[in-house]
Amino acid sequence: MFPFLFDKICLLFTIKVMKILLSELENRENKSEKINFSHIYKEFNNDVPVVAELFIEILSNMVKITGQINAQVNLICDLCLKEFTKNLNIKVEEYFIRDNLNINNNSEFEIKENNFVEDLNGSDEIDITDFVYQSVILNIPNKLVCDINCNGNENLNKYIKKEISDPRLEIFKTIKTEKE
Ligand SMILES: [Zn+2]
Repeated sequence: MFPFLFDKICLLFTIKVMKILLSELENRENKSEKINFSHIYKEFNNDVPVVAELFIEILSNMVKITGQINAQVNLICDLCLKEFTKNLNIKVEEYFIRDNLNINNNSEFEIKENNFVEDLNGSDEIDITDFVYQSVILNIPNKLVCDINCNGNENLNKYIKKEISDPRLEIFKTIKTEKE
């Protein structure tokens, strides 16, 4: 009975923290909230939830989110075309603009060039589920290799070798012999 009840409470808690209402956050004394987020994204890995520890704070006309995201992502290796799992440990520090007009008058903090800044366009809420999703996507490397020692795909290697040894090299051979 108790585990069942506990599950229900966790479920309610998760739903509650998926979206952050900024007006509600602003009414608090510390204008901030610590979030322990856990969510299974079908796009990444069906078994392991993405876990995030985030700190959201309102800084006058901006919202700052800092924290850590840990994700396990199933990817396809570029070389051998097999599926592999990659662990991503992502440190986030991002800003959301609430009021674009007053941004230059704000001297409370400094935005570095590499900080990600997104305009909320007057919206009162931040979708944490989407925020975590985007953060994971942005941290997936361009080149996907399952292992340093990956030897690639046998059939793919044969194809590549054939391509190289076929038409172009033949042309070079004939040019050479003509010169000689
Ligand atoms: Zn591979």
